[in-house]
Amino acid sequence: MKSRLIALAWFWIWAASIYGQTIGTETVYVYNYNGFSEKITDNAIAELKKYYPRVQKASAINLPEWARYKPKGCYTGSSILNQLRRIRKTDVLIGFTDKDICYNNHGKEHFRCMGISRTDKGLSVVTTSRFKTKATTQLYFNRLMLHELGHAFGLNHCSDKNCIMVDAKGKNQFGHTPSFCSRCKEFLGKKNWKFDKI
Ligand SMILES: [Zn+2]
Ligand SMILES: [Zn+2]
Repeated sequence: MKSRLIALAWFWIWAASIYGQTIGTETVYVYNYNGFSEKITDNAIAELKKYYPRVQKASAINLPEWARYKPKGCYTGSSILNQLRRIRKTDVLIGFTDKDICYNNHGKEHFRCMGISRTDKGLSVVTTSRFKTKATTQLYFNRLMLHELGHAFGLNHCSDKNCIMVDAKGKNQFGHTPSFCSRCKEFLGKKNWKFDKI
């Protein structure tokens, strides 16, 4: 009986270490897909560290072929996110790609998009495939990454037109949304994001 209780306690501690992790103490792991630009990745990580210091570059991985939606030649975002969570059970995970990713509208249609996140699961994936001007790619990519990570840390879309968390509705609005509004900053501040040096 006693040993069974001890085993149960150990199981509980183990389970809590996986599921009980509080968002804000987690590391953000950045996954680079299929030879995505190292330069863009390193620059984006440096930008993210200004807001959230616990960031790790993970080893490069391939987009799962089973996630490919052949009629449109894009990769289904939800499948990419599922693969990420299988690779690592804890922490916040984000994948960078230059391939088209799409949003599966309950199997009805696949819309191409710039990024997809799971607010409840701490997962994001972003792509450069929809950026047209090379000169602004890095700047907009950094903002796109912050937008999607905002979701991954629990933020929904924001009604403030100048906030980085505004709903892009599939368009690239990052030219005029340089930062988070005060409400979104307050939310992320509770998850250990820092805005004092920005
Ligand atoms: Zn969004
Ligand atoms: Zn906002």
